[in-house]
Amino acid sequence: MDSIEARLIELYEQQPQVESRALLGYSSEDLKGIPDAVAGLSHGLKCPLHAVMIPDDRCARVLDIGCGGGMDLFLLRKNNPDAACFGLDLSMALLEQGRAAGCCGERDINFLRGNARNLPFRDSSFDTMLAHAVLHLSPARHEVLASAFRVLKSPGSIVICDPVISGCAPEFFRSEYLDSDGVFVYGGLSSLDDYRELAQKAGFAWFDLIEEHRFDPVKEISAMVRNKYGRDMVTEQEWSRIDFSIAIFVLHKGVNWGFRRTECGNCGSRTQLPYRSVVSIKEEPLFESLILARKLNFGRCPFCGHDIDCSEPFLYIDDKGRVVHKLPQHYHGIEDETIREISTRFPRLSVRTVFTPDDFERAIRPKSWYRWW
Ligand SMILES: [Zn+2]
Repeated sequence: MDSIEARLIELYEQQPQVESRALLGYSSEDLKGIPDAVAGLSHGLKCPLHAVMIPDDRCARVLDIGCGGGMDLFLLRKNNPDAACFGLDLSMALLEQGRAAGCCGERDINFLRGNARNLPFRDSSFDTMLAHAVLHLSPARHEVLASAFRVLKSPGSIVICDPVISGCAPEFFRSEYLDSDGVFVYGGLSSLDDYRELAQKAGFAWFDLIEEHRFDPVKEISAMVRNKYGRDMVTEQEWSRIDFSIAIFVLHKGVNWGFRRTECGNCGSRTQLPYRSVVSIKEEPLFESLILARKLNFGRCPFCGHDIDCSEPFLYIDDKGRVVHKLPQHYHGIEDETIREISTRFPRLSVRTVFTPDDFERAIRPKSWYRWW
């Protein structure tokens, strides 16, 4: 364990200063039945649980790295009572609190002490992983991603919720990060492009950006800096060159996903749909006809016959390698700003977000695509 990790354990064992879980996207309905001791220990950023995909069978295995007291695991187990849930953290004190609260469900949550840089599990052990507000704390995030890739099954995915930085970070950020042993976390943030590159190097096949929420920590950082140094260390101009956001993204190992649980919008029955997160028409032309016939990623309710739109996002790659990203309605789509960013990076491609099955069918023919890498 290095000095940054040791310092972080100390920091995270303190009670977090979070006024309301609702601000982070956890509804009071969600939190019903979750032990107070556990909810009070969470240092979360933004609820990422809607992006977590767990196979619907008793053998499904889920791992939360940097689980703390295990609030996200308690919530995942509530909606997936059959899954085997594992939580890993560096802090023994937090794990013990989780353990003490953990025997209130059908299946125990397994809390283990360990380092995400070197996960203490066999290869291909988990279907789904979660890293909520964890990656930016690790100076060796390339090792964390490589280790995650190793213990994930194929297909498998890791959902990451992390603060990210874009633009040009001031020199002060880096020096303060090192000087404070990582406590000045803003100095250690990566950009989404960094994460794309790290994910690709670790072997992940696809990078899915689910949500990005801008936030502005300038006042907070300025006050902290003035308190310590008695003056501003970052100029107005330097501030204007950086943006901060909290991003939720998913890294996929393998592409074939099997089945997805979904709910009929008409009668509310739960059913399963054949699902693939990435559909490459070039490699498998059959899938185009399956999508157009709504036999893949779409379906028909076996109880009332209503059309069902799979709630999971997926990428559709056409024979020229162009991509449509289909998002479910509640994700609010890609923001105009992001579309502008993508259009600047790939000037010859136009981008469109597709919401409904009908829109999707219409969009397959026109040019509405972009490529992640
Ligand atoms: Zn129905």
